[in-house]
Amino acid sequence: MDEKIIMDLHNHSALSPDGKNEPEEMVRRAVELGIEYYSLTDHLEINKFYDEEYPYEEPVKRASLIIPPLIEKYSGKIKMSYGVELGQPLQDMPLTNRMLSSYKYDFIIGSLHMCNGWEDFYLLDYTKVSADMLMGLYFEELLEMARWGEFDVLGHLTYPLRYITGESGIAIDMEKYLPIIKEIFSTLIKNGMGIEINTSGLRQKIGKALPDEYYVSIYRQLGGKILTIGSDAHCTEDLGKGVAECIKMAKRAGFDSLAFYKNRKPEFIKI
Ligand SMILES: [Zn+2]
Ligand SMILES: [Zn+2]
Repeated sequence: MDEKIIMDLHNHSALSPDGKNEPEEMVRRAVELGIEYYSLTDHLEINKFYDEEYPYEEPVKRASLIIPPLIEKYSGKIKMSYGVELGQPLQDMPLTNRMLSSYKYDFIIGSLHMCNGWEDFYLLDYTKVSADMLMGLYFEELLEMARWGEFDVLGHLTYPLRYITGESGIAIDMEKYLPIIKEIFSTLIKNGMGIEINTSGLRQKIGKALPDEYYVSIYRQLGGKILTIGSDAHCTEDLGKGVAECIKMAKRAGFDSLAFYKNRKPEFIKI
């Protein structure tokens, strides 16, 4: 790996239900890799907050006690922010508001892993439910999230395709969603928010970034300036993976900088 990994702003530690390594192991590995800008963004799945198998109250609180001191401890070695991947924020607004007023996040990725009333795209059987119908619901809810506006970047725009196309091999005619995708982008831009390129798709069956260059270019053409890159690593081995490739992609799409967030404000890093 000789290319520089400027940033990795989306990854998970053992403070997420599916994360493997302790937060400090993740930070140490990020330092080892020479990552300059880093954020741990453990899951906060609003609609699953009171889940019996994985209740979120305690790990979210633990993160608030562990992460800020880590940022301080490694401040000479890496620029790090206290992030969160806020899932399904509109599905319980009082709870979302309580969380956002209780914790002082530097950086919030807004994600949608399951449409309102449905299970995670990763758990659905696409021989039994219409993938197309769900894609419609998905983009409508993303648009509502963009209108709500209380996060910084929209996580993995094409997340459902990781499972629908990547895992289940079902082709989706994405052209018909282009108008709503453009509306989502325009709304994010108007509200001072951005998007991320999530590199995880490059190491999964779908074989491309989430979203891929086509959508990143459209976002840019519509005036999008705020772009972050994250590996969505759930273990130290995946940290920084695909970032160098996605920086090239961002440049081809017309970007000359990426955003890093501190205290919910973007700082632009030249690429
Ligand atoms: Zn996610
Ligand atoms: Zn994630």
